[in-house]
Amino acid sequence: MSPSLDVPPHQRVAPHQRIAVVTGASSGIGEATARALAADGYLVVVGARRLDRITSLAEEIGGIGRALDVTDAESIAAFVAGLDRVDVLVNNAGGAKGVAPVAEAVEEDWRWMWETNVIGTMRMTKALLPALIASGDGLIVTVTSVAALEAYDNGAGYTSAKHAQALVHRTLRLELLGQPVRLTEILPGMVETEFSLVRFGGDQERSDAVYAGLTPLIAADVAEVIAFTASRPPHVNLDQIVIKPRDQASARRNTTTG
Ligand code: NAP
Repeated sequence: MSPSLDVPPHQRVAPHQRIAVVTGASSGIGEATARALAADGYLVVVGARRLDRITSLAEEIGGIGRALDVTDAESIAAFVAGLDRVDVLVNNAGGAKGVAPVAEAVEEDWRWMWETNVIGTMRMTKALLPALIASGDGLIVTVTSVAALEAYDNGAGYTSAKHAQALVHRTLRLELLGQPVRLTEILPGMVETEFSLVRFGGDQERSDAVYAGLTPLIAADVAEVIAFTASRPPHVNLDQIVIKPRDQASARRNTTTG
């Protein structure tokens, strides 16, 4: 890591220090993953658009917080500057907007979902691949979704973006064969985070209704699995991990829907 990262002296990176990058770490699964990896001894570089949250998380876990918008090439370039060696990249930034049927698709929402989930993952991976290879045992974790496995009514903007994001990740698994990089796709079901709040444009009541009457996962449930994945030895590649609450059997079938 070069001085361009502006790292305070107490955070300078020792040669043996393992480094993890987590995108979308200002809430939910990303924030919990940053905490879990920091607890396991990683220096965690956290990024998202809400810099206030990123800064206080970085302070709390002894990591490095930087503004990051994965839809903006310049923001990504500034975020990765000086990261010459990275052990773990968690492509987590993403989400859904809206629940319109295809016949009423809102293009702005579709563009947001595709740019954040799909192109964001491609850009972050491309930017950090040399640093991951340089570590000698890199790991790319991409948080897709059960929406990368299934179709459901009124979800095509999100399911198509998550399918595409997953295919970027799964293609990398093929293209990087022989390189010292492992790839793990995490496919969560219902996790109570800010996900539904974002999907419903800030409507708290509608968001709460998604999780009413069942026990969803919490962000830490997913984060613990990501940290476990990172703790495996270099020859072990966990390719795909689907994590759902017991109360959920498929993307749209759960104990409240019957
Ligand atoms: P969340 O609490 O809304 O977190 C989403 C994170 O992504 C936030 O930190 C947000 O930060 C960040 N983000 C959004 N746009 C970004 C951008 N352009 N650049 C950088 N960061 C951006 O939701 P979550 O559930 O933790 O979601 C994390 C991932 O899990 C997403 O990829 C989501 O699709 C996936 N997932 C969630 C669920 C679920 O039920 N919750 C299920 C399956 C998969 P800023 O707004 O500060 O930028």
